[in-house]
Amino acid sequence: MKTGARYYIECPSCRGYGCSECKDGRMELTGCPQDEVKGLRQFCQLSDLFAKGVMPISGGALEQSAQFVEASQFLQNTEDRIVRQWQANQSAS
Ligand SMILES: [Zn+2]
Repeated sequence: MKTGARYYIECPSCRGYGCSECKDGRMELTGCPQDEVKGLRQFCQLSDLFAKGVMPISGGALEQSAQFVEASQFLQNTEDRIVRQWQANQSAS
């Protein structure tokens, strides 16, 4: 990140439509996003490996718990969306 630059993400509450939690559908990042997910660090690491085809539990994708697969897909989709927004913001500035 550039020092002094402001970064925004789409509001997770309204998905960019605008609500009382955000301003015009966006929220400014005021700290490192990693700090917000400290308790989920192991899950995030396992999810990243899962996305690359490395299963946390021996066996294939069908041997993983449905909750893990669903949470992992949600995390990957959210990360992809944030990266696309960040790239769009970079090209706009
Ligand atoms: Zn909102």
